[in-house]
Amino acid sequence: MSAADEVLATPLQYLKGVGPRRAADFARAGLLTVDDLLYRFPMRYEDRSRLQSIASLKPGTSSSLTGRILSCGLRSTRRPGFKIFDAVVDDGTASIRVSWLNQAFLRDVFAVGQHVVLFGPVEMRGSGGLQLTNPQYEILDDDDAETVHTGRIVPVYERTGSVTPKMQRRLVYDALQKLPPDLPDLLPDTVRVMLDMPSRYASLVASHFPPADASLTDLNAFATPAQHRLIFEEAFLFQTGVAARRKTAGAERKDIVPTVDDRIRESARRVLPFKLTSGQKQALKEIVDDQQRPQPMNRLLQGDVGAGKTIVALLAALVAMENGLQVAFMAPTEILAEQHFLNISRMLQPSRFRVALLTGATPPAARRQQLAEVEAGSIQLVIGTHALVEGDVRFKHLALVVIDEQHRFGVLQRASLRTKGLHPDVLVMTATPIPRTLALTLYGDLDVSVIKDVPPGRLPIKTTAKPESRRDDIYAFVRQQLDEGRQAYVIYPLVEESEKVDLKAATAMFDHLSQDVFPHYRLGLLHGKMKSDAKERVMKSFAAGEIQLLVSTTVVEVGVDVPNASVMLVEHAERFGLSQLHQLRGRVGRSLHQSHCFLLYQAPLSEEARERLRAMTETTDGFEIAERDLAQRGPGDFFGTRQAGMPTFRSIDLVRDRAILDRAKVEADAWIDSAAPTAAVLSRMLESWEQRFKLIEVA
Ligand code: ADP
Ligand code: MG
Repeated sequence: MSAADEVLATPLQYLKGVGPRRAADFARAGLLTVDDLLYRFPMRYEDRSRLQSIASLKPGTSSSLTGRILSCGLRSTRRPGFKIFDAVVDDGTASIRVSWLNQAFLRDVFAVGQHVVLFGPVEMRGSGGLQLTNPQYEILDDDDAETVHTGRIVPVYERTGSVTPKMQRRLVYDALQKLPPDLPDLLPDTVRVMLDMPSRYASLVASHFPPADASLTDLNAFATPAQHRLIFEEAFLFQTGVAARRKTAGAERKDIVPTVDDRIRESARRVLPFKLTSGQKQALKEIVDDQQRPQPMNRLLQGDVGAGKTIVALLAALVAMENGLQVAFMAPTEILAEQHFLNISRMLQPSRFRVALLTGATPPAARRQQLAEVEAGSIQLVIGTHALVEGDVRFKHLALVVIDEQHRFGVLQRASLRTKGLHPDVLVMTATPIPRTLALTLYGDLDVSVIKDVPPGRLPIKTTAKPESRRDDIYAFVRQQLDEGRQAYVIYPLVEESEKVDLKAATAMFDHLSQDVFPHYRLGLLHGKMKSDAKERVMKSFAAGEIQLLVSTTVVEVGVDVPNASVMLVEHAERFGLSQLHQLRGRVGRSLHQSHCFLLYQAPLSEEARERLRAMTETTDGFEIAERDLAQRGPGDFFGTRQAGMPTFRSIDLVRDRAILDRAKVEADAWIDSAAPTAAVLSRMLESWEQRFKLIEVA
C-alpha cells in the first residue's frame, strides 16, 4: 500500500478526537475511513474571510461575525414554557444582542468570555438597536481557529450524530495535512488532461478549503472545477464498471438458443385469454428477439401497475418451454407467488406444461418430490420468491429467469447465477417507473422495454385528498360501493421504527371498523406479522369476494390483483412517499368499474406532504409521479432506503449531476474501448467496482 493509500484507508476511529462513539456516529452516516470523510462534500460554504464588524451591520441582511461573549443567560417570557436565550457579543467595534428562541439547552453551551462565530439574520429590534436572531454558531476553542475556522471560506458539514460541523472541519483539515501531494490520481491521465481537470489532490483540498479567489456562489452550487472533478471522478469510475459489465455480459453465451416457429405461435395463441395491447406486443417482440440471440438477455420491463406485464412474461416463458427449456418465475412475496401460481396454472391449462409453486410453506415431502421433478425436467415452470435461485433448486435446463416487481434483486441475482455457471435470459419487471434518464444512467447495461398503455376500457382512478374530519362522508361512500357489489381496501402505514405501535393502531382500526362502522359487512385484516398461511387465507378470501373490505398494512403494495376492488382508502397518507402512494393506488382501477382512491391526512400538512398529495390528485401517470418524486426527494429516498442493486454514491447527486454522469458515460465507454482490457482485467475491475459502489452487498 502506498503512503497515500494508507492515509486514505485509515479508519476514522484512529483520528485524533474521534473515539468509538463518534466513529459509530460516522459509521451510521456511511463514513468509515479517511477516504469517506474526504469524499463527503460540505453541505455548504460560508465566507468568513470578510467577517463583518458589528459596527457595520445593517438590518435585513444575513451576516457572519465573530466576537466574544460579554454576557448571556436564559430568560422567561409571558408565554408559559417559552424561554429565550440571550447573549451580548462584542468584537471591539461594537456589541450586538443575539437571541435564540426556545433553545434552553444553550445555557449549557455558552459561557461568558467565549470566542464565537455567528451566522444569521440581522434584525431591527424596535428601539433597542440591532439583533441577531437564531443564528448558527460555532465556539472557537481551537488554537489555530484562525486558519481552520475563520479568516477564509470555510466548509460547513452536516452534523453527524455527536460530530458537530466544526469537529468535522477540524478532522478534514488534519486529514488533508497528512495527505501526500503526490496522491495517485484515479482518472486516467489522458482523460484528465483532455478535460483539463485539476489533480485529485488539488481537488480534494480545494473542495474543503477553497482558495481565497473561489466563487462562493459556484461553491454552493457544487460547480467549481475542483468539485466538478471529484463528481466526475466518481461518475467515471461508476460508468467504467457499467461498461465493463456490458462487455463481460456481451461475451457470455447461452448453452441453447431458443427458436420461434409457427407451432410456438399457435401454442401462444391458445393460452392467450385476450388481445395484447400494442405496448404489450412491442415489449414481447423485444423480449422474444433477445431470447433468440446467443447472448443472455438482460432486460428490464417497465410498466405501470395494471399495464399487464405478467402475460408478457408468461408468453416469453412459453417460448422457452416450447424449446424444451425451463423457467423460474420469482415474486417478491409468498402471497404474490401464490397468486401468480393460480393465474399461470389456469392459463397454462390448455398446454402440456407443468407448473410448481415452491415457497417456505411447501411441506418438506412435497418439496422433495417437486425438486426431483424440476431436476429431471418434468416440471417446466417454477414459481417462488427470490430464494428460488439462491437455494437448493437444481434445474435440468434453466433458460429464463423472470423477476417480478423487484428490480433491485436483478443485479444480485445475475451475479449469483453467473457464479453457478448458469447463463439464462433474465427479465426483470418493475412497476416502479424509473425515469428514463435515470435508468440509462444507472442501468446502462440493461436493455429496457416499456409498456405505456393499459388494457382497454379502464377508467382513470378518481383520487381525492381529504382531512380526517371528512372520514364519515368517505365511510358512507364506501358502504354504498360495497352495497353495489364492489370491494375496498383500507391501508394503514407501517413504519419500521414504530412498527409495534403502528400494528396496534392497524388492529385497533380493524376492530373499530368491524364493530362500529361496517358491522353488517365482512371485513378482513392483513399485515406482515401474520403467519404466511393466515395471510394466504385472508388474501384468498378477499380475491374470492368473501371479504368485502380488507384492512391492511402496505403488504398489498405490490402486484396484488383483485379486479373487483374499486375503492382504496389510505390512512395517514401524509406519511407515505409519492411512489409508494402510486403503487398502492394501483391495486384499484383494474376493471371496468370506476375506481376511487381517498387519501386521508392528518392536518397540518408539511409543505412536502402537501406537494405529494397534490401530485397524486393531479396525475395518474406513473412516470410523471416518478419524476416528481425524484425531484422532491432525491434518488436515495426515491428507491427507498439503501437497496441492493442501487449504487451508493458519495459525491454524486443524481438530480444535480445528471449532465456529469452522461459525460462520464461517454468518456468511460471510449476509454474502455481504447484500453481494451482482457477478460481477467475486466473481472478484477468489476469486483472492485461492485465493492466500491456496494452493489453486491446483501441488504
Ligand atoms: P401488472 O403490469 O401490474 O403486473 P398484470 O399483469 O397483473 O399487471 O395485469 C393486470 C390485469 O389486467 C390482469 O387482471 C390481467 O389479466 C389484465 N390484462 C392484462 N393484459 C390485458 C389485455 N391486453 N387485455 C385485457 N386485460 C388484460
Ligand atoms: Mg404484476
